[in-house]
Amino acid sequence: MEEQIHRFRHHDIEGAVIRVMDDEILSLNEFLAEEHHLDDGDEYEFAYTCCYLKHRGRHVLIDAGFDPDTTPGALESIDVSPEDVELVLLTHADRDHVAGLLMADGSFTYPNAQHVIGKELWDNLSDPATLEALDNERGAFYRKLVKAFDEPMQVCKKEDEIFDGIRFIPSSGHRIGHAVYEFASEGAPLLHTGDAFFHPDFAEHPDWTNIADSIPDQAVESRKVLVARAAKSNALVLSSHIPFPGIGRLKKIDDLLYHWTPIEIEL
Ligand SMILES: [Zn+2]
Repeated sequence: MEEQIHRFRHHDIEGAVIRVMDDEILSLNEFLAEEHHLDDGDEYEFAYTCCYLKHRGRHVLIDAGFDPDTTPGALESIDVSPEDVELVLLTHADRDHVAGLLMADGSFTYPNAQHVIGKELWDNLSDPATLEALDNERGAFYRKLVKAFDEPMQVCKKEDEIFDGIRFIPSSGHRIGHAVYEFASEGAPLLHTGDAFFHPDFAEHPDWTNIADSIPDQAVESRKVLVARAAKSNALVLSSHIPFPGIGRLKKIDDLLYHWTPIEIEL
């Protein structure tokens, strides 16, 4: 049985990485352009996670997982109810990140939460042409999501402190309008990087192209900025899909070369 929830503490921030789907064994070469292909040992455990933080007294979720049961179930195990969640910060709108936002009847899973989304992502998501291009099942879900989002949502355009000690940081490329979030702490910040890198190798070599990114060149540029920022601030870095729990630190070695150290800090 895989661990469903990994609790951690970072200075005054308490957190939990929540596994929202089972890991997949994937080959890193599936994501790498041919010139970077590895000879062997390229298989790894690709995790699916979202993240809960108790930050300055607020209950915060970064993404919501694939269904409306798994994440609330994990939160219940740490005595947090869906009603307690005050902020849901979205990195992008792939279904393993947003399908957990809505209950079957179309109402919000986190009814009291302020939902935060990037403007570029929202414009793309709510564009009738985007919805038209989806198959029936996906189209039905995203129409429901766009409808639900129509009123209680905060749309962010550029980097900004959107709540006390929480920064919205545009980091487009993995998907149009992908964004990440940085949390101030009593020490170094905590930076949740969403899907900016699918494997630590992409953080160590930010100029490597991930062919699974929607706009690979833009994703490379965003990744370069992000890993430099994380290394400079010595941030605690979280990532949605790297091997569970997906927490570590980045150190700059050289131009475009960083070292990733995974960390397991248990609460
Ligand atoms: Zn993802």
